[in-house]
Amino acid sequence: MVTADCCIAGCGPAGAVLGCLLARAGVHVTVFEKHNDFLRDFRGDTIHPSVLEILDELGLAESFLALPHTKVSNVGGRTTTGQAIAFTFERLATKFPYIAFVPQWDFLEFMTHEAARFSSFTLIKNAEVVDLMQCDGTVTGVRFQDETGEHELAARLTVGADGRSARTREAAGLLLRETSPPMDVLWFRLPRRPDEERAIAGRLAAGRVLVMLDRGDYWQIAFVIAKGTAGQIRDAGLDHFRQEVVRVAPELFDRVGDVTDWEQVKLLTVRADRLLTWHKPGYLAIGDAAHAMSPIGGLGINVAIQDAVVAANVLWRPLLKGRVTDADLAEVQRQRERPVRLLQGFQTLVQNRFLGPTLASRATPSIPFIARILSRVPILRDIPPRLIAFGVGRPHVESPIRS
Ligand SMILES: Cc1cc2nc3c(=O)[nH]c(=O)nc-3n(C[C@H](O)[C@H](O)[C@H](O)COP(=O)(O)OP(=O)(O)OC[C@H]3O[C@@H](n4cnc5c(N)ncnc54)[C@H](O)[C@@H]3O)c2cc1C
Repeated sequence: MVTADCCIAGCGPAGAVLGCLLARAGVHVTVFEKHNDFLRDFRGDTIHPSVLEILDELGLAESFLALPHTKVSNVGGRTTTGQAIAFTFERLATKFPYIAFVPQWDFLEFMTHEAARFSSFTLIKNAEVVDLMQCDGTVTGVRFQDETGEHELAARLTVGADGRSARTREAAGLLLRETSPPMDVLWFRLPRRPDEERAIAGRLAAGRVLVMLDRGDYWQIAFVIAKGTAGQIRDAGLDHFRQEVVRVAPELFDRVGDVTDWEQVKLLTVRADRLLTWHKPGYLAIGDAAHAMSPIGGLGINVAIQDAVVAANVLWRPLLKGRVTDADLAEVQRQRERPVRLLQGFQTLVQNRFLGPTLASRATPSIPFIARILSRVPILRDIPPRLIAFGVGRPHVESPIRS
């Protein structure tokens, strides 16, 4: 049987960053990824200042920002009646006062390439973790399936970074608390003209919310719909869908015809949940596997990476010493649970007080009073950008480099 100090199920943002940080510290780590590549469209592509600062601490920010990307410093919203709000990241105290939009597959290629410089790092693609090995209630490794069949890998610690439908947390028998966000999202893209605003731009109309993300020569567009209504929207036909897009964002009338097939429109079924306990002996869940985030604020990727940084900070030493205790695993949850709960609370507030009622109403929406106050009062106006830029808490990399 093959062995490792640590094995990680899933090479998304959480798994890739944790794998890299542990390998840098000299921990023998094996990461399993069930796909053969990282090519997934309409995933979290938003790298916030908190993650850019982490990359900077690793000495990687410059080479990362050499990858093709767009930088967006402004976030705004406008109703069809012309009421508007605007926020900016430009006043935040950081070297990186913007969101960098980088395709997630480029981020994952970048991180795993960096990790592969360390001989203690192994990435096995096309290998799906199908079960946990357990002995007397302790997880002792994984069973994984690749093209040659089923195999086992024993590890002191198994980390479930296998996303929001995590198989490992199910096998670990951990309990999940789910909330029910009132919305789903239809993602698609349309061309963007160079003279259009450089921003994350929200648009509101009666019963409709749309968010346009500046991706350089195209807009990545989130058409927010009431939960479970994607089928109805499809049944009403593409013409009706295009009309609804123009009703909420009239400036798109000259290009909405580019959406000619439902294949171009991807459904994100919005989920939000959180494990009550993130660990059991020999096992820890992080990222979406521990807490799926609603898409509000584009926080998912960033929170997942912050989990990875904290997990590496807490666990690199016990892993090198060969003994990871329950107290070590509980410490990771202790440091990360409060930030996650607060951010999920903020998302729930926006969903329940604003998005849900807007989607359910036939009246022309107005921008909530609290949002208008927050955007206009000088001592308050940087609070929302700061929350989105840094999350809650701001973990720094403490694990060392031992090549
Ligand atoms: C359509 C969509 C749009 C989104 N948009 C945004 C956004 O704009 N901004 C943002 O911040 N977040 C966004 N998110 C959320 C964001 O993508 C996630 O929060 C983030 O990727 C979580 O990272 P993770 O590493 O925890 O999990 P994931 O990114 O889900 O990675 C899990 C990895 O594990 C692999 N895997 C799963 N099961 C197994 C297994 N059994 N064995 C081996 N490998 C396995 C998967 O293939 C995947 O590579 C979006 C999510 C979706 C679905």
